[in-house]
Amino acid sequence: MIIERKVKVEDLLTEANLDAFVFFDLANIRYLCDFTGTDGVLVVSDQTDSFLSDSRYQTQAQQQVKSENLVCYQKKLDGIIAELKRLDVRRVGIESETLTVSTWLELQKKTIGKIEWVPVGKPLQRLRAVKDRDEIDSLEKAALLNLQAFNEIESLIAPGISEKELALALEFSLKHRGGEAKAFDFIVASGVRGALPHGLPSEKLIEPGDLITIDFGTRVNGYHSDETVTVAVGDVNSKSRDIYDTVLEAHDLALEAVVPGISLLALDAVARDYIVRAGYGDYFGHGLGHGVGLEIHEYPSLSPKSEGVIEEGMVITIEPGIYLPGYGGVRIEDTVVVTSDGYRCLTHISKQFKQFPA
Ligand code: ZN
Ligand code: ZN
Repeated sequence: MIIERKVKVEDLLTEANLDAFVFFDLANIRYLCDFTGTDGVLVVSDQTDSFLSDSRYQTQAQQQVKSENLVCYQKKLDGIIAELKRLDVRRVGIESETLTVSTWLELQKKTIGKIEWVPVGKPLQRLRAVKDRDEIDSLEKAALLNLQAFNEIESLIAPGISEKELALALEFSLKHRGGEAKAFDFIVASGVRGALPHGLPSEKLIEPGDLITIDFGTRVNGYHSDETVTVAVGDVNSKSRDIYDTVLEAHDLALEAVVPGISLLALDAVARDYIVRAGYGDYFGHGLGHGVGLEIHEYPSLSPKSEGVIEEGMVITIEPGIYLPGYGGVRIEDTVVVTSDGYRCLTHISKQFKQFPA
């Protein structure tokens, strides 16, 4: 296992009083031992660690996996149980947030009286929250591709192009520049469709007076970029402009409040309270942001229900929005890394109000 990360799992074992942990979640596995395939298991005890996979991944595992033991199984669960027996462990942690109920039940059935399976949730969430230098480097590279791709497709933003075409142009540019895959299904929502926070690109054509919300990203070394711009085409009315200015101010205030030690809840409230005071409180229905890393959404989540605090090295999004049903909407999103005394923005597209010619 990657040595600095092994320490984190050892702390987890101690904290939850476990003899071993079985990781099924591929993002956790990649984080701990560099495996990038789509099927495998990592078993970690306080003595050693073993990576298990089937014959499809033997060569890949030999080439990339950092683990003391590489095991090839015929049947996955039987392979895991055999390895746990070899390690002579009893109390074994599993990922409560992502393991399926059917796998959990089958593991229990096969090991009655021999292994006690302990679902672990919250302590595990925090495993990948604080990023190291290499991770931030990959996140930064992914964010830079966003800037380059947006610059490249900007000239297409005009009346008559469809939301779908804009999304495709962005996806092509990101891949062309070295992005591994799109980070998620892009959101391109224009005019009245901007009221849909997760409006997938449609055949709707851009019209003069539209605001267009574009939320997109890519992946570098498995790490995601995530950024949202809202731009105007032609003259927008004063109401649209007011919504834009309100979201931008909420975004800026929240950014300035990012500092190690602030609670997730308090940070969310900085943007939320501003939007409420501006009279749009009912129209900001989602959390302020989320962690970004090997997964597009990971710990921490910033919302009125969040527990926990911002820590140096976390990479989070700040993405307030206002969505008026039947009218339209605005979201503005940046991804930042938390520094010792504030933040550094990884995403670089300007968020100042921008109007394209109609
Ligand atoms: Zn986004
Ligand atoms: Zn986001």
